[in-house]
Amino acid sequence: MLNLKKITSIPIHIAKGGNLFQDVIDRVEGKTDRLAALPFFIKNADGSMSRLKRQCTSNYKIIPVQKKIREVLGVSRLSEKDNVNIWLGFSLDELSRVSKKRTSTKHNWERYSYPLVNLKSTKKWIKNFDFLDIQYSRSDCKKYLSDNGIKDPVKSSCIGCPFHNDRYWIDMRFNNPVEWKVAVDFDKKIRRLPGLTGECFLHRSGVPLDEVAFNQLDIFESNCVGSCFT
Ligand code: SF4
Repeated sequence: MLNLKKITSIPIHIAKGGNLFQDVIDRVEGKTDRLAALPFFIKNADGSMSRLKRQCTSNYKIIPVQKKIREVLGVSRLSEKDNVNIWLGFSLDELSRVSKKRTSTKHNWERYSYPLVNLKSTKKWIKNFDFLDIQYSRSDCKKYLSDNGIKDPVKSSCIGCPFHNDRYWIDMRFNNPVEWKVAVDFDKKIRRLPGLTGECFLHRSGVPLDEVAFNQLDIFESNCVGSCFT
């Protein structure tokens, strides 16, 4: 983010919603009542697996961004006529994450668009404005950043996201041991979440992360699906 400030004069504001992972650990340790559940895998007493409903994206990303937008605009409420244009930088490789249904009735002032793939998600897009005629893949984005003196950015999804597929975990394990240790330690701490009878795991196998027999060909989970902003 700081690097971006070197190449653009566009004001950059950072929205923060707290520390998701610390909040989970504090909840496990009984230090807080706050819990915005990650989509943990649950191993039930009979051995079956289920999954927690995801709340983290909304509480730690979407709501803080909406709050920041109101703060920057200096208003406490926004309405449909306000037309706030929100650009999400999904690349061509992430077309499955492009959604036309992001805007809820409650937040009908939001107009989502996807400039890297040249898509506008709403009919209410302000007239007379068009993106450049480009469609950027992840490697195009990397090249653009490199051409502008910015080193290869890390992926922005949370280190301990249960949506990571096996290829992602393998890459982390062998190429980023610091992150891997954070994820393994986190996984060990989440087994007993208050209010749940089953045990929580980051990996769908219901096995501690550092004991999982990963499948190199795993393609079924993606880093963060649908409406998560990462
Ligand atoms: S990356 Fe994963 S853990 Fe992080 S907010 Fe998105 S769904 Fe939740």
